[in-house]
Amino acid sequence: MSRLIVVSNRVAPITEGEPTAGGLAAGVMDALRQKGGRWFGWSGQVVPDMVTPPLPVVEQRSGPISLYTTDLNQRDYDTYYRGFANGTLWPVFHYQAELARFDWVDFEGYRRVNGRFAEAIGAFMTPEDVVWVHDYHLLCLAEALRERGARNRIGLFLHTPFPAPAVMMNVPAHAELLAAMCQYDLIGFQTESDRLAFADYVLREMGGEARADGVLAVAGRIIRTGVYPIGVHVDMLRAEAEAAADSPQMQALRASLNGRALVMSVDRLDYSKGLPQRFAAYERFLAENAGWHRQVEFAQIAVPSRSDVHAYQEIRRQLEGEAGRINGRFAELDWTPLRYLNRSFARRDLMPLYAAAAVGLVTPLRDGMNLVAKEFIAAQDPEDPGVLVLSRFAGAARELDAALLVNPHDERAMAAALARALAMPLQERRERHGAMMAVMRRNSLERWRDRFEQDLRTPAALDSVA
Ligand code: UDP
Repeated sequence: MSRLIVVSNRVAPITEGEPTAGGLAAGVMDALRQKGGRWFGWSGQVVPDMVTPPLPVVEQRSGPISLYTTDLNQRDYDTYYRGFANGTLWPVFHYQAELARFDWVDFEGYRRVNGRFAEAIGAFMTPEDVVWVHDYHLLCLAEALRERGARNRIGLFLHTPFPAPAVMMNVPAHAELLAAMCQYDLIGFQTESDRLAFADYVLREMGGEARADGVLAVAGRIIRTGVYPIGVHVDMLRAEAEAAADSPQMQALRASLNGRALVMSVDRLDYSKGLPQRFAAYERFLAENAGWHRQVEFAQIAVPSRSDVHAYQEIRRQLEGEAGRINGRFAELDWTPLRYLNRSFARRDLMPLYAAAAVGLVTPLRDGMNLVAKEFIAAQDPEDPGVLVLSRFAGAARELDAALLVNPHDERAMAAALARALAMPLQERRERHGAMMAVMRRNSLERWRDRFEQDLRTPAALDSVA
């Protein structure tokens, strides 16, 4: 079978014996471990502009896997990563176009880095290799590879949402970007609405034509689109949660809760996660439910992220103020209603929190999938499970419709859902949890990877549908 080349902005380091955290890394790493293959991406290092490209590519081998990494210089980092990928595409893809900044210089940098990646991959790619590209950083990579003569099968999986055409068109370079995306052979999305939004753009703005089964004819090419919701290792997480049940960390957590119900959230500190709205809903819940005072605690882990992008500094300041204010308003000498933790944890160290929580409060304004929602469900004891309160705008809501689904802009409804979750009878909790576990076992991480890879390798029959 032809080899698999995986490309993503960052390459996960190989740590022996440690299961890899995060959907992308865990899914990809398993695939590469089983069948062997190559993974290319940025090392995470930024070097001064004096160091002129092409920057060297470093190879690290671990059994059947070869990792290839390269540094970025400061100008490339500023334009490609901080500028276009995270300053323009991230907000627009999460329907927050008003937070987007655009500069053609950034877009040129983005294309330049996609081109550099293509150049570096070209040095070890053979004509039989299939290339699986990940996420919004590399929308122009297939185009760059094709410009260099590649005729390989190249697929893209978009981990984020894809916005409706009217939102996409806020990006001045939308036409260039979409034309570049059409150089892929397969584009995978988290949900059907993301896929439809893309197809909508192609049909309405590019004169494309829809064929059966997600196949689009556009710009003289036939491309296939599909829905591949990313999953989690359900059994591994369950086992980790069981192991965490008697751990010293768990005992310490339970002792500190002193019998109080725990509500938990885990997010990167990102404006797409709806944290101010969530804090407001919790404050409202406390104001309306005096009976729960001293009986409940909300732990919010907010991992600092992209802290050199302006919009992220803003939200961090705002949340620090709100956390202090809410505690100031409701706390007692022996009760802190909100624990706000501004740091990251190894995924394994999150397990006591996931397992101990009575409610998982996962309310992003938009999210491609949201793995925390799935991890929380997997970690719960099926005999006495907690309740997931989930934003209907998370990709996960499509599968986890047995959660209490909420609109994160509706503070009153969120406060009510929290009260309902905390009071939910055991039988109902079990039924909802069982339904969600069944979906998660069906749409496992293995299935996500296998379906995408298979569709990328074998769409030949569809190519002839003309
Ligand atoms: N995560 C982690 N440590 C932390 C916070 C989060 O390992 O301190 C992991 C979490 O377990 C999940 C991922 O980071 O696997 C976050 O993925 P999600 O899809 O929820 O959001 P994203 O950050 O990709 O937008």
